[in-house]
Amino acid sequence: MKIKQIFQWLLGSNKKKSSSPQNGMQADKSEMMQKVLTMLSNTQDVEMTCDEVFAVLDQFAELAARGEDVSRLMPLVQHHLDMCPDCQEEYKVLQRIVLNAV
Ligand SMILES: [Zn+2]
Repeated sequence: MKIKQIFQWLLGSNKKKSSSPQNGMQADKSEMMQKVLTMLSNTQDVEMTCDEVFAVLDQFAELAARGEDVSRLMPLVQHHLDMCPDCQEEYKVLQRIVLNAV
């Protein structure tokens, strides 16, 4: 969703400036594009935030309780849980609730 916004922003600002194509602006644009590309390549394997993980954690716990391969289905969540003790705690609590409910 963020990526889409960046592109929309790029396209929008491009339209406004289209009346005067100057060399300086071209340089600005390609520099901006470079930044976006760097951003994109960085975000591909960037971890989820705690908020994002928390939003899907109950789903994750449910899938795990059902014996689904969560590390394949939601690898980013699994990855985050491996790294983040806070979310691990939260997950343990949810897991207990889910397992009790089954
Ligand atoms: Zn976390």
